[in-house]
This record gives sequence, C-alpha cells and structure tokens, in this order.
Amino acid sequence: MPATTLKPIEGRLRSACSECGAEFYVGLSIAMRCGINTGHGTCPNPNCQTFLHIEILEGDAAWTEPFREYLKRTGRLIPVEDGDVAE
Ligand SMILES: [Zn+2]
Repeated sequence: MPATTLKPIEGRLRSACSECGAEFYVGLSIAMRCGINTGHGTCPNPNCQTFLHIEILEGDAAWTEPFREYLKRTGRLIPVEDGDVAE
C-alpha cells in the first residue's frame, strides 16, 4: 500500500488501493470493532474497483490487498475447473 497523504479523521482509517494507489477513508468494520483485524471494500476509483481485503496496519493507517490474493495467501481459495472459487 502506498503511503497516504490523507489527513486524519476521527473514527476513520486512512488507506490506499494496493492496485491503483487511489487514496480513501475506511470506516471500521464490524469485525474490527470486535477486535478482529479484518475488513473489506471496493476501491472507489471507477477505473479500478478492485475488491480489497483491508487490515489496520498501525494507528489509523489501513493496508489493502486484492481480496483474491488474501484468499490465496490464507489458503482459502479452492481451485476448480472453471476458475477459482472461494469457500
Ligand atoms: Zn484501486
């Protein structure tokens, strides 16, 4: 994730898309509010719109990666004949 130039806003995470670098604010996910560091969202750049996995990196900075990469990295992507499907 590129370094963000966004100003801090109370209750928001500052983040950027791992794919296109677009910067955006993220609200805390329900899981994050429960102490589990995971969330997801779609890149707001209309030319990108990558579905992202989001984790709090440090303070109010959030780290992103394509959700598909997150599933591969964590062994949750099950390959099938027609492509890859997550379960
Ligand atoms: Zn993007």
